[in-house]
Amino acid sequence: DRTRTRAAISREEAVLAHNYHPLPVVVARAEGAWVTDVDGHRYLDLLAGYSALNFGHGHPRLLAAAREQLAKVTLTSRAFHNDRLGPFAEKLAALAGMDLVLPMNTGAEAVETGVKVARRWAYEVKGVPADRATIVVAAGNFHGRTTTIVSFSTDPQARAGFGPFTPGFTVVPYDDLPALEAAVDEHTAAVLIEPVQGEAGVVVPADGYLAGVRRICTERRALFVADEIQSGLGRTGTTFACEGAGVRPDVYLLGKALGGGIVPLSAVLADRAVLGLLQPGEHGSTFGGNPLAAAVGEAVVDLLGTGEYQARARRLGAVLREGLDAMIGDGVTAVRSAGAWAGIDIDPALASGRHVCAALAGRGVLVKDTHGSTIRMAPPLVATDDDLRWALDQLRDVLATC
Ligand code: PLP
Repeated sequence: DRTRTRAAISREEAVLAHNYHPLPVVVARAEGAWVTDVDGHRYLDLLAGYSALNFGHGHPRLLAAAREQLAKVTLTSRAFHNDRLGPFAEKLAALAGMDLVLPMNTGAEAVETGVKVARRWAYEVKGVPADRATIVVAAGNFHGRTTTIVSFSTDPQARAGFGPFTPGFTVVPYDDLPALEAAVDEHTAAVLIEPVQGEAGVVVPADGYLAGVRRICTERRALFVADEIQSGLGRTGTTFACEGAGVRPDVYLLGKALGGGIVPLSAVLADRAVLGLLQPGEHGSTFGGNPLAAAVGEAVVDLLGTGEYQARARRLGAVLREGLDAMIGDGVTAVRSAGAWAGIDIDPALASGRHVCAALAGRGVLVKDTHGSTIRMAPPLVATDDDLRWALDQLRDVLATC
């Protein structure tokens, strides 16, 4: 029976802007890796809120931290101090090995903040002439949806009809060190890249790419800004994808899982030589660093501190990779993965990504397509090996019956 599902969808359609095209599943409850819809059907959530739910739905420790803080104080604005922000920032800075933290809310805000801070650094430290700073980004990037961020997107859908755009960005091909080397010059404030391109379809660069980015940035005096909003916080099997590559960027941009899937929480992390350049009144956010988000964020950092979730990502990643590799040639043309995160190219002659996602939803597996024929899997790190094996069986059956 899908009576409630249909009713809920028509209600949404009547009043919501159509900036998304959701699969026809209306979630009403969730626990761990599983969600239940309004008609009582259960689904394994292999999207995990685009990796905002790395710790699963309703993690007991995160819920407890939120509940405890809800009863005390939720918002002060940063006109005043609150007693949760210090402990959160202290632990997050230690986790990342950076001096300072600037808390925001959404990923896009963290990216915008990173852009501002990099430009400030270029003028005050590198000596770039006023208003001449550039930021080098990669083709295929996804950093968010604000006007400045879509200004350097290479996805026509993200840009069409939204100009005029913000100048000051140079796009080079991803995973191409010679192109990057040629683009970074005396006006370059930063190289802003995703260590793994998530929205592009989990595009994993060649070994040595991130180390090469680090080398070029160091040699040419540009900041290496790593957007780990989707790749960070356990997803790839290490706390940060850069860490897995043995590389330390100058700036980390974090979001998504930092708020435990409970509250929006993002952050920019860097050493004092960079973030220390901001002065009072120059940047901020009403909700950034609120005590509720800080309490949840501190609990998230505690979970990551155990190393358990990174280990789970590695184990789930091995199950995922083995199962997906076995499907190459049987409806799957290519698989890319990093830890518990996979991009699966479906043979376009067989079916669209959307079709496969809809068929999987009909069998109780939630995933999302991207760029036509690619589907992404990013299980909550609390999913079991058996959950994942069952989901892979569903994918195999769907592909066999397309
Ligand atoms: N950066 C990356 C790498 C992302 O994947 C995303 C969201 O998917 C963002 C930034 C934007 O985050 P938000 O949607 O919270 O603004």
